[in-house]
Amino acid sequence: MAMGTERARETVRRLQADITSGRWPINGRIPTEAELASELGVGRSTVREAVRSLAHLGMLEPAPGRGTFVRSLNPVRGVLSDFASTHSWADILDVRKALEVQAAELAAARHTPEGLARLRAAHDADLSGDTGAERGRTPGQFHAMLVDLAGNALLAELYAGLMAALREGIRRGALDNRQDDDARRGEHAALLAALETGNVTAAGAIAASHACHDLRIRED
Ligand SMILES: [Zn+2]
Repeated sequence: MAMGTERARETVRRLQADITSGRWPINGRIPTEAELASELGVGRSTVREAVRSLAHLGMLEPAPGRGTFVRSLNPVRGVLSDFASTHSWADILDVRKALEVQAAELAAARHTPEGLARLRAAHDADLSGDTGAERGRTPGQFHAMLVDLAGNALLAELYAGLMAALREGIRRGALDNRQDDDARRGEHAALLAALETGNVTAAGAIAASHACHDLRIRED
């Protein structure tokens, strides 16, 4: 097994150091398997195994056809995500809603102009349909940015752990994304307006109803 080799462990260590150092930003895409293999002087299968074990820790997330994305600078998220996964989808969605409402209220109260401008830019890119993988946009990025605006690192980590569990649910077909593009954009625009006017109550209310509109637990 490649994972058992010293070279494989060293590859994991080097990639982990690259992630922790912030060489690749959160939600940014890492170089391709071939590029990393050449940079690190190892075979592609060794890189693949290393990426897989960092994905297991929740630090990386492969998105088939789009590349591999950085999801966390530390392994805490993977542990959280695994723990969340031992609970029902309904329970996870309830807690996510609570965190999204709290994040929206905090963001309305204490966002920075720069952070708000980034969120506005992400929303504008969504409106113009400029959502290609080459821009590094990933599903849920608007909300990850909104949670960052709340300025509470613990809340952001808990949220990211839950989102990793939910994305796994979508991948496995246990959850459906049931919101169409227009509905999503309309609700995001309303949320953004509430943040820009510092309306804490409206931000929380819109976040609460929006959280119930996007994912559905599949019955079959
Ligand atoms: Zn949304």
